[in-house]
Amino acid sequence: MTGGGECDPIFLVTWKAHYRLVCPVCGGRFDDTEGRFLLGCPEQHAPALLRAVYDEKRLVIHPESTGVFRYADWLPVRRTLPGCAGPVAWHSTRLGHRLGLESLFIAFSGWWPEKGAFMETCTFKELEAQAVCGRTAPDWTSALVVASAGNTARAFHHVCSLHGLPALVVVPGYGVPLLWSTTPPSRRVRLAVIEGAADYTDAIDMAGRIAVLGGYTAEGGAKNAARRDGMGTVLLAAVEAAGRIPDHYVQAVGSGTGAIAAWEMSLRLGEDGRYGEPRMRLHLGQNAPFTPMVDAWEAGHRDLPALPRGHELAAGIHAPVLANRKPPWGIVGGLFDALSDTRGSMYRVDEHAAVSAGHLFADEEGIDIDPAAEIAVATLAQAVESGRIGRKDLIVLNVTGGGQRRLQAEKAPVALKPDIVLVQGADLPREALV
Ligand SMILES: *Cc1c(COP(=O)(O)O)cnc(C)c1O
Ligand SMILES: [Zn+2]
Repeated sequence: MTGGGECDPIFLVTWKAHYRLVCPVCGGRFDDTEGRFLLGCPEQHAPALLRAVYDEKRLVIHPESTGVFRYADWLPVRRTLPGCAGPVAWHSTRLGHRLGLESLFIAFSGWWPEKGAFMETCTFKELEAQAVCGRTAPDWTSALVVASAGNTARAFHHVCSLHGLPALVVVPGYGVPLLWSTTPPSRRVRLAVIEGAADYTDAIDMAGRIAVLGGYTAEGGAKNAARRDGMGTVLLAAVEAAGRIPDHYVQAVGSGTGAIAAWEMSLRLGEDGRYGEPRMRLHLGQNAPFTPMVDAWEAGHRDLPALPRGHELAAGIHAPVLANRKPPWGIVGGLFDALSDTRGSMYRVDEHAAVSAGHLFADEEGIDIDPAAEIAVATLAQAVESGRIGRKDLIVLNVTGGGQRRLQAEKAPVALKPDIVLVQGADLPREALV
C-alpha cells in the first residue's frame, strides 16, 4: 500500500497484497484469501495466531489518511476508509508527576476534541473495527458476525453503519446498556441479544454457530490479524509522540488482544531500526476477582485455570468488558508468549483501587475514563510501587477508553435496540437473521 497518493480514497482499485500471513509454528506463509478472512494455519498442528508480515519494513505515516489508515502499510487491509478517528498520545506531565514518573506517555482512545481525539464509540475497539472493515475487498457482500460484551459491538455497529458494511452483532443481555450510537444505524447492521443469563463467552459460541451459515463470515476475534494490527496503532501513535519504543507498556486486559498487538508492533518497530531495541515489557492488569490470566501467569501455566463460577464473576466486576473466559492465552503467538518474550508482569486490581485511579486521572488529566481504563491506571500505580517500573523509564499507558461522559453531554447518543432475540440451546431463527 505504498504510494497512498495514487489510491482512490475509498478503496484501492488495483490491489496488490503488501503483506503475507505467517504461521509462527510451521513458518508457512500465506496470501490472504478472497471473500473471507484467513484466520488460522491450514496445516495440522497446535493452533497459532497467524501474524501479518509486511513488505514495508519501516514505519510509514500517511498524514492524509484517517484513523488507523495513517499506518496502512502495517495493516492487512485491502482498502482504506475515509472519515475515521484514530488514537492520540501525549507526554503526561500531570499524572506523571503525581506518580513520580518523568517519561509517562498516555495513548488515548475516545472522545476528547481538544486533544484531537474523535472516537465516537469511546474505546479502542473502534480501531480494530476500522482495520477489519478495511480488510474486506470492495465487492464484499457477506455479513460479518461479531460477538461482544458491549464495546466491540458498539465499535463494529458504528464503523459498519458508517461504511454500509453488512454485519450481525451478537451480545449478552448485560451488554445491551453499553450499546448506543451517535450515527443513524444502517439497515445492513443488525443487533442480536441472547436471552437470559448469558455472558460474553456464550455470545462467542452463538456467533460461531451463526458464522458457519451461508452469507456470514466470522470476524474472528483475536485470530483476525487486522484486529490486532488495528489495535496496535495505539503503540504507533505513542511511539510517534515519544520517539522510541517504550520500556514499558501498561494496559487492562480482557482477552489480551490489545497487548499481543502492542507486542507485535514493537517487534516491527525494532526491525525498522530507527526506534531503538524492541525491549518493551508488558504490564497488564485484570479486574479482581476475575483474574484467570494473572493466576495462570503466576503459576507459569500455558493453560488457563477452570472457572467454575465464571458466569457470576464475569457479570459482577467493575469492568465487565474485561471478563473474557476464553482469551487467546496459551495459543502459539498469544498472550502467554507475549508476556514470556517481554519478561512482562500481571497485576490484580480491585474495584476500590480502580475507582480511585479513575478520580486521579480525571483530576490530573481532565477527562472521564472507561472502567477498564481505570484498571490500567491502577495497574501502572502498582507497577511503580512494586519497583518493576523505574521513575526515569519510558512508559506508554494505554487508556483504552475515555470521554464517554463528555460525548454524552455533547452528542446525545441514542440507545440501540436489539433487532433479534436469540435463545441459547434453541434452533437459530434463520429467517430473522438473513
Ligand atoms: C476490550 C477492552 C479492553 C481489553 O482489551 P483486550 O484486548 O480484550 O484485552 C480494555 N479496555 C476497554 C475500554 C475495552 O473495551
Ligand atoms: Zn502452520
